[in-house]
Amino acid sequence: MKRIFSAILACAAGLALAPAAHARITLDFDYSLDTGFFTSNPAAKTALERAATVYSDRLLDQFTDITPGNGNTWNTNFTNPSTGANTQIFNLTIPANSIKIYVGGANLGGALGQGGPGGFFSNQGDSTFVSNLLYRGQTGAADNPPSDFGKWGGTISFDKTVAWNFDLTAPAAGKNDFLTVATHELAHVLGFGTSDAWRAKLTPKAITSGTQYIGPFTGPKAMKLNNNTPVPLETPSGTNNAQHFQNSLQSTVGGVAQETLMDPDITTGTRKKITLLDWATLDDIGWDLARGGDATADGSVDFDDLAKLAQSYNVTDGQRRWSDGDFNYDGNVDFLDLSILAQNYNTTGVQGATAAPAGASADFTSDWAAAIANVPEPTTLALAGLLLIPALKRRRRAK
Ligand SMILES: [Zn+2]
Repeated sequence: MKRIFSAILACAAGLALAPAAHARITLDFDYSLDTGFFTSNPAAKTALERAATVYSDRLLDQFTDITPGNGNTWNTNFTNPSTGANTQIFNLTIPANSIKIYVGGANLGGALGQGGPGGFFSNQGDSTFVSNLLYRGQTGAADNPPSDFGKWGGTISFDKTVAWNFDLTAPAAGKNDFLTVATHELAHVLGFGTSDAWRAKLTPKAITSGTQYIGPFTGPKAMKLNNNTPVPLETPSGTNNAQHFQNSLQSTVGGVAQETLMDPDITTGTRKKITLLDWATLDDIGWDLARGGDATADGSVDFDDLAKLAQSYNVTDGQRRWSDGDFNYDGNVDFLDLSILAQNYNTTGVQGATAAPAGASADFTSDWAAAIANVPEPTTLALAGLLLIPALKRRRRAK
């Protein structure tokens, strides 16, 4: 049985601003509008926060804060995840490099989840404040056509009537995998299918009620993975815009073929991981990604990253994250990940950017030997791991 996802839209208009460096982006969940879904299912909370690490481990940008006061005011405008009502919250403060996401459960009438960015209205204040609300400092978001994305946050609703699998290990037959649906809906909050930057890479089509945006998707990084041809999208129903890849569109996870995370549906009882094509599309709509091997997501692939990977090397429990050194999202840390790191070793920059040398020269072979030699026996791994990084740093400085 196939179950569908759906997405919520948000809109905003234009203004100008300043350029950006890189920091990790935090996804800050707000459960205050939940009416029992998460309190009845604590494992859902764990799975949601696990899904968020797919993005928070790797997304690099520099989001400005949104701080009301001194005559600067605003109201949110988003879909209440439990009731479906438009929700206004006055003068939220959003910290720098953080996105707030309201979550809850509802009867979605057939969809497993529904997510998207939040809007706002009745904003007043100086130009910096208004610009931060619109773009969060993402220069390209103000361009025409927009090439970046920066919102205060958004909302996700999960269907509360279906049989869910909250287990992180694997979905059971007949159950819908919450981890997959959460990962999918989070991509919509981050602008996949729901942002001006996404629509800028679609084809506008005049309809009686205005403009409809349809596929294919022409982002260059996604196209590169699709034999340099535009990427097919779903045929939207009615006057909706296309918000997903074409049904059953394939990409790869760790070199193995898999249906894309962001096609319109998922087969009950199965799990999908994020594929190369899903990532390339997020990259195309403006997100900067840590490059392969940058486990610490600090913009350089260096000894710290080798040390992280060494701690999980050959752990094949399917539960590894980017920050453990799982650079191909297959859940394991193994030779494939080490190869990705080795290819980018001692370089700086984000995914897709021209690699620059990361300062002092480093010998991958001897550094790997040092990194793996410092990994303790498995029985003491968890405790000793806390001490490992400072010890290795000292060694490096002495060089
Ligand atoms: Zn969707």
